[in-house]
Amino acid sequence: MRLKDKVSLITGAAQGIGLATALKFAREGAIVIVIDLKPEGVDAAVAACRDAGATAEGFALSVTDRAAVDAMVAAVKARFGRIDVLVNNAGITRDARLQKMTEEQFDAVIDVNLRAVFHCAQAVADTMVAQGAGVILNASSVVGVYGNFGQTNYAAAKFGVIGFTKTWSRELGPKGVRVNAVAPGFIETPIIATVPDKVLDALRAEVPLKRLGQPEEIANVYAFLASDEASYVNGAVLEVSGGLTV
Ligand code: NAD
Repeated sequence: MRLKDKVSLITGAAQGIGLATALKFAREGAIVIVIDLKPEGVDAAVAACRDAGATAEGFALSVTDRAAVDAMVAAVKARFGRIDVLVNNAGITRDARLQKMTEEQFDAVIDVNLRAVFHCAQAVADTMVAQGAGVILNASSVVGVYGNFGQTNYAAAKFGVIGFTKTWSRELGPKGVRVNAVAPGFIETPIIATVPDKVLDALRAEVPLKRLGQPEEIANVYAFLASDEASYVNGAVLEVSGGLTV
């Protein structure tokens, strides 16, 4: 129960890494706030967290909608009185190589994977600073550190998130708020459904552990970073890739 009664906002929590994180946090005793686009996905994730014994609430909204994010944060504060953890996990891909990428593809990925991370962090920062405690965790990617074919937009956003992490860890660290990023390698979730099998096979061969990651293996890292066990971890980018980039 490392996260007992920690009010934890998790974006993109209806599936994949976000859902696994919500369930892990639920099992660790957190009060889980599920945030995602579709009401059915949010309801199912909330039900799963409650089945795991947690208090859980859901909000169906887009993290790109600043007013909706602000209203959600106000509602959570009104109900639970505090906000302890924000996991900025929601993310999308719109892949195309440089010469083919449209403005729409570029903007969509920057809006969800970068701008919304800024919005969500801004929405909780005053509360965490007033508490003198809090944790913000940002979803980066090995793609943000090393680049990837066809992912100009995604790589820029995921590298930008590392810039956020380092900046906020300096700004908020003195106020008792820790900020860290996780850079997953290739994890078996719906987001990689569009990656061709032969590319996935090549990736598996490159990973020293000879397999892709599971969402729970990222969720475990978020739970550690959110907990007091990580009390001296701040401004870090923790790569969780099976050693892909070694
Ligand atoms: P996923 O596609 O399985 O899940 C993403 C979730 O985010 C979905 O439930 C989706 O509905 C939600 N979402 C998308 N746009 C949203 C919006 N505007 N508002 C609210 N919710 C929104 O993806 P995943 O693989 O679980 O990835 C989670 C995070 O981890 C993403 O930021 C992704 O970039 C990052 N990541 C994933 C991998 C991987 O290999 N799976 C690797 C590195 C980083």
